[in-house]
Amino acid sequence: MRHFAVVGSGPAGFYTAEALEKAYGDQARIDILDRYPVPYGLIRFGVAPDHQSLKAVSKRYDKVAESAGVDFIGNVTVGADISVADLLDLYDAVILATGAPHDRKLGIPGEDLPGVIGSAEFVGWYNGHPEFADLDPFLDGTHAVVVGAGNVALDCARILSKTRHEFEGSDIVGHALDALDHSAIRTITILGRRGPHQVAMTPKELGELGHLEDAVPVVEPADFPPIEADEPLEPGLRKSVTLLRGFADLPQDKAKHMVFDFFAKPLRAEGDGKVERIIVERTELDEKGSARGTGDTYEVPASLVITAIGYSTSPIPDVPFEGGKFVNENGRIADRLYAVGWARRGPTGTIGTNRPDGYDVAEQIAASLPAQGSGDREGASGLKRLLESRGVMPTDYDDWRKIEETEVGNARPGSPREKFVRHQDWLQVLGR
Ligand code: NAP
Repeated sequence: MRHFAVVGSGPAGFYTAEALEKAYGDQARIDILDRYPVPYGLIRFGVAPDHQSLKAVSKRYDKVAESAGVDFIGNVTVGADISVADLLDLYDAVILATGAPHDRKLGIPGEDLPGVIGSAEFVGWYNGHPEFADLDPFLDGTHAVVVGAGNVALDCARILSKTRHEFEGSDIVGHALDALDHSAIRTITILGRRGPHQVAMTPKELGELGHLEDAVPVVEPADFPPIEADEPLEPGLRKSVTLLRGFADLPQDKAKHMVFDFFAKPLRAEGDGKVERIIVERTELDEKGSARGTGDTYEVPASLVITAIGYSTSPIPDVPFEGGKFVNENGRIADRLYAVGWARRGPTGTIGTNRPDGYDVAEQIAASLPAQGSGDREGASGLKRLLESRGVMPTDYDDWRKIEETEVGNARPGSPREKFVRHQDWLQVLGR
């Protein structure tokens, strides 16, 4: 019997567990660890609450969690409650699937002013992440700026522009829904440091912007190259650019405007005690296609700034770490230690990208560790004994089900599901 520990219960962790189970059948026990008693990582805390069809992938993970060879062990922080070295003693292999939960910094003056927040914080706030329950983003001003031209920037801008009615059927948390309902923001400027041909926004997500109840996207036609230049673009990007071009034809008759400001690089954030404006430099593309400042600067009013420029992984003591992810070669960090998902590749790709990633690492493990193990490793029983000796009380999948049922049961008719937003709320449901 082999014992495997997958650290992190987001998409990468679940696909890896699924692949290991397929590879080893009943010859392996797979424990999926998470620092929270609630599983699914990015699906619960990252995917936008109004994108329920994307969140539905958790049904597939449910099946994995409920299968005989897999256990969910929540409420355990690897690196604090237990070390990677401890896990390597107890398990035949350890797979880090810890995602990339931290915001990359812009590195500009004024970034630390109140009112400048990262997308991980903002997304965490509206998705009920316990670390950001008290974020209280400043929504009393009329202007917001979102920095970045990727899908996370679009998520943030869209959430800022939707009406209460448009959140029906979502699982946005109550505190965010109420705050957004009273928001004074009327202009949301999306700053892209390069042009429409360089966006990282995908067509489905851009397409939604043309159908918002109270907000309309705004583009400047002069930012676009001649239409013939779209022809050689890869089909997905071409579709995105076509959608962006089409925004110029929309009637500008709604209360909120989502302004795409391309070739715009933030230089600094300014304000008296809190952010009031962003100073931006006009850019052009250099020979390599990177953004090069032209020296022309202007200011964009901003009472709230959200940076959505990518994420990094949390380091774990004694695991080599560089450039915001674990140092690895095709997923292998060291003997019997692997990384998958964003912790392996960095924060790019869709949820589905993690599937081949997890399967690839599971194949490598299966190739190096035959099903007939030496029987030396204790797996979960040793882990639980060690945790108990340290006063840590792990939770299991039935505990998660109890939390989930209580959350669903909390929903008022016609309102979104009310997720718990604090660690102690979860533990209280479990009588801890
Ligand atoms: P992303 O797609 O890598 O986009 C990051 C954006 O930030 C890029 O436009 C980048 O511009 C810009 N940027 C980076 N550094 C910057 C700086 N210093 N100053 C100004 N701009 C800067 O990352 P993401 O939006 O965080 O998304 C992460 C992944 O999740 C992506 O694969 C995304 O597609 C996926 N995702 C998918 C969905 C969905 O399917 N609905 C939703 C959310 C996220 P440059 O190109 O110039 O570097």
